[in-house]
Amino acid sequence: MREKLVAGNWKMNGDRAGNRALLEGVVSALGGAPRGDGSARCVVCVPFPYLFQAQELLQGTPVTWGAQDVCQFDNGAYTGEVSARMLVDAGCTYVIVGHSERRGLFGETDDIAARKLAAALAAGLTPILCIGETLAERDAELTHTVVARQLDAALAVVGMDGISRSVIAYEPVWAIGTGRTARPEQAQAVHAFVRERLAQQDAGVAAQTTMLYGGSVKAANAAELFAMPDIDGGLIGGASLSVDEFVAICRAPQAVAAT
Ligand code: PEP
Repeated sequence: MREKLVAGNWKMNGDRAGNRALLEGVVSALGGAPRGDGSARCVVCVPFPYLFQAQELLQGTPVTWGAQDVCQFDNGAYTGEVSARMLVDAGCTYVIVGHSERRGLFGETDDIAARKLAAALAAGLTPILCIGETLAERDAELTHTVVARQLDAALAVVGMDGISRSVIAYEPVWAIGTGRTARPEQAQAVHAFVRERLAQQDAGVAAQTTMLYGGSVKAANAAELFAMPDIDGGLIGGASLSVDEFVAICRAPQAVAAT
């Protein structure tokens, strides 16, 4: 179901005391604000060791929690891995899949990302599938080719039914953690391309798919990005570590709705 969504990706940051301050700050600022007023669903994707802390602090609040990765296998001899069922056990609703840092630094292929997507869906989680091109690929005018390849790999494994239960995050790799944000029109063009590609298979699912933009989103640029017709919210890295920044970004869709 398409909705306004802002998801924080803490990456490998945090400790128990700092997490508590951050989460209590976000919850207190967002209060019990009823959704349906144009505000976004707010999610934090925390490192594995802090999932139960997130559960303890966020249960019963408007903030939902999730993980940053999941194993493609169900259980067994996979030392160091965390299964989708374990994430469900920790109360997760969402999990990021195929983040460019997993792809670029840890050798995650399109096929592995697709299998992680399938594992997350099978456990009842909502995966946030990340796709996006590197700077070299953009410069070589390969943006559409790359995101189509990443999307098609996911579709080959989970089909449109799986996509209908997923969120897609377009994250140009050159904009992640660099302070360099895609211009709203640049991001919108890729979102429209992805939605159109999905529509070729099922127009109804395409129209109902929640699509996020990620890459150096801040309080100062969120509203103009979220005002684009195919951008339903954001996947937020660095700015999700600041209460004020993250809360302002979560409220940005509301500001757009009011204009
Ligand atoms: C991310 O980690 O997905 C991300 C978009 O990071 P940042 O907002 O820091 O660019």
